[in-house]
Amino acid sequence: MKIDYPCVQINLSKIKHNTEKIVELCRKKDIDVVGVSKVYCAKKPIVNAMLQGGVVMIGDSRIENLKKIDKLKCRKMLLRIPMESHSRDVVKYSDISLNSELTTIKRLSKAAKKLNKIHSIILMIDLGDLREGILEKDVINTVKAIMELPNIKIAGIGTNLTCYGAVIPDESNLGRLVEIKDRIKQELALDIPLVSGGNSSSIHLVVNGKIPKGINQLRIGEAIILGRETAFGESIPECYGDSFILKGEIVEIKFKPSMPSGNIGVDAFGEKPVFQDKGTIKRAIVAIGKQDIKIDGLKPIDKYIDILGGSSDHLILDISSCKTNYEVGDIVDFNMDYGCLLRVMTSPYVKKYYIDK
Ligand SMILES: *Cc1c(COP(=O)(O)O)cnc(C)c1O
Repeated sequence: MKIDYPCVQINLSKIKHNTEKIVELCRKKDIDVVGVSKVYCAKKPIVNAMLQGGVVMIGDSRIENLKKIDKLKCRKMLLRIPMESHSRDVVKYSDISLNSELTTIKRLSKAAKKLNKIHSIILMIDLGDLREGILEKDVINTVKAIMELPNIKIAGIGTNLTCYGAVIPDESNLGRLVEIKDRIKQELALDIPLVSGGNSSSIHLVVNGKIPKGINQLRIGEAIILGRETAFGESIPECYGDSFILKGEIVEIKFKPSMPSGNIGVDAFGEKPVFQDKGTIKRAIVAIGKQDIKIDGLKPIDKYIDILGGSSDHLILDISSCKTNYEVGDIVDFNMDYGCLLRVMTSPYVKKYYIDK
């Protein structure tokens, strides 16, 4: 097979392995795992690897991605609070959606009625992170109003943390979520089956046995994909951190000064760059840039490579200390953080290759 660069090499068996490990960890605490596909745009081979690894459902933030996997036999969850204007597609392409606006839920009810479907929702509750969710004081009234709506089932309550406000899930805030479920049962005689306790930032509570009893679902993307939890950035035992490798081709190698010459203005992105004078260095240019990657989210696998910076289409490296004698046309490998991977997977310029070993 001729490989085209830049590309990302995706190891499906490592993703399946990570999924199995995390599903097993969660199963011990009676928690189901929703496999989150948004960072990789719900590409089918990876969705399949997560399903084989044992997730109960696939979750994505974009309805377009769920549409792409419509034919796959699995339950699907829409993670981002739906746009009202997408109500029909939400009902059509997802089995369950996360919601926080009564007016939107009313629209979903209407769309579900028209399509002759029952649409399930998880009512999102804001426990302090200040992204999506209703406030705790509004829970009872909102649930009461939703109960009136035809073709809508309240399948669960949920929360999302560590996304905007960087609030870390703990026994106190997730404990409150379980209490809310109990209060709904007491006051409205409604038994809500699912308590969806967040994303990869909740995994540490599972690992150290502190997840409150009653949390029975987590929605997990990054922990499976990069093998680490996101509250403290710790690796998850027995999981791989290198399922995705970015590969770029060197197009120039030259010895040049480390300081630009001339008056310094702003770069192509309107920022004023800073330079460190290291004298003359051996520099390499790789044919990939900010259109495809997040430069500060890259980590060269050759630890002697230093990333100097880049522009839309160029990545500039200091290869002065490398033991490998790089030449033009050679390929350089990188690990990526979540933000960089998101861009890589979204960029049509970065080819995707799958390996299975
Ligand atoms: C993205 C997302 C997740 C998954 O987050 P990870 O940190 O990748 O596990 C879970 N829930 C919601 C609502 C999301 O938007």
